[in-house]
Amino acid sequence: MRCVMSEVSLALKSVTKTYGKRIGKAVSVLGGITLDIHRGEIVGLLAPSGAGKSTLLHIAGLLETPDSGNVEIGGINMNTASDRLRTRTRRTEIGFVYQFHHLLPEFNARENVMLPQLANGSNAASAATHSDQLLAMVGMEARAEHRPAELSGGEQQRVALCRALANGPRIVLADEPTGNLDPTTAAQVFDAMMLLVRETGRSALIATHNLELAARMDRCVRLHNGMIA
Ligand code: ADP
Ligand code: MG
Repeated sequence: MRCVMSEVSLALKSVTKTYGKRIGKAVSVLGGITLDIHRGEIVGLLAPSGAGKSTLLHIAGLLETPDSGNVEIGGINMNTASDRLRTRTRRTEIGFVYQFHHLLPEFNARENVMLPQLANGSNAASAATHSDQLLAMVGMEARAEHRPAELSGGEQQRVALCRALANGPRIVLADEPTGNLDPTTAAQVFDAMMLLVRETGRSALIATHNLELAARMDRCVRLHNGMIA
C-alpha cells in the first residue's frame, strides 16, 4: 500500500520560526524546513523533546504562521490564502491528533466524532452514520455511546483518531499521539492509526519518540538543530 502517486498533500518550503525576538531572547526553532508529504504516505517526525516537532506540526496545521517560507496544502499556498480559506482548510483538509485526546467530556464517542462534521455542514443523520463507520474501523463500535471518562486512555485516543479523520482531511498531523500510553496500548493505537489512514487513503505526519513505531512508517525525517537531518 506504499504511495505510488506523486500528488503532494503537504509541502513545507524553507519554513523558519524563531521565538522570543520581541523580548530580545531569540530562539531559532526551525531554520529552513523543506518537506513534501505525498498522498498516501505515512511519515514519522523524529526528534528529542524541545527540537521543534510541535512547532513544525502547528505551522503545517495552520495553527501558527512561519516567520518565512510557505506551507502548501493540496498545492495551494496557505501564506497568501485568505483567512476564510485558511479556516476552511484547517477544518476540512487537516486532522490533528494530540498526546492528550481533548475529547469533549459531556459528549459521547459518536457525538465527539460528529461535531467536526456538523461544524462543516453535514446533517446529523449522515454525521452519525459516518462516525459509526469510523469507530467500527478502530474496533470502537460497542463504545459509541460512552463518554470519554468511561473509556480507557487507548480507547480515548482511538476516538480522537476518528474525530481527526471525520471530515476526510488530506493530511493527519499527530503530535506524539501515543506518548501518554503504555507500550502495549501505544502499539494498539498506532495500529488503529495506520489502518485508518491507509484505509481512508490519507497522508500522515506523526511526531514520535518511539523508534519501534517509527520503523513501521513509510519513512522518517529527523529534526536536528532546526533542520531536517
Ligand atoms: P518539541 O515538540 O519537539 O518538544 P517544541 O516545538 O514544543 O518542541 O519547542 C521547540 C522550542 O521552542 C523549545 O525550546 C520551546 O521552549 C520553544 N517554544 C515553543 N513554543 C514557544 C512559544 N510559544 N514561545 C516561546 N518559545 C517557544
Ligand atoms: Mg512537542
